[in-house]
Amino acid sequence: MGVRLPSSLGFPIEYQEIEMDRRRLDRYKRLLLERRGEMSVASADAESPIPVAGGSKGDQIDQANADAEAELQIHLHQTDGRLLRAIEEALARIRNGTFGTCEACRNPISKARLEAVPWTRLCRDCKEREHSK
Ligand SMILES: [Zn+2]
Repeated sequence: MGVRLPSSLGFPIEYQEIEMDRRRLDRYKRLLLERRGEMSVASADAESPIPVAGGSKGDQIDQANADAEAELQIHLHQTDGRLLRAIEEALARIRNGTFGTCEACRNPISKARLEAVPWTRLCRDCKEREHSK
């Protein structure tokens, strides 16, 4: 008896679901790439005005201001860097098929959350738990 009918019937449905996912992933990928594009423009801008630390032995107050400014720039830079890395990691997860899964509880992250922060690694519950620590 040829009983291959069920599996061949099941295939189109499965295929459709994969197609849906792929389209959604493409959307998130585009969002991530767009954000990354904005980020690299922003960090290129931020790089030029960083004063060279300890460059001059001039006025002490000037030096203090320059240090504070440099620190601020570095701080901004670190925040940018962290987001940039989160975006890179999200893109990697899209490539290896783990995108949209919470790293802590392994549940799927809601679409609304992924739309707002496609680079997130945690679902909302886990994120809130992390914050309340
Ligand atoms: Zn979670």
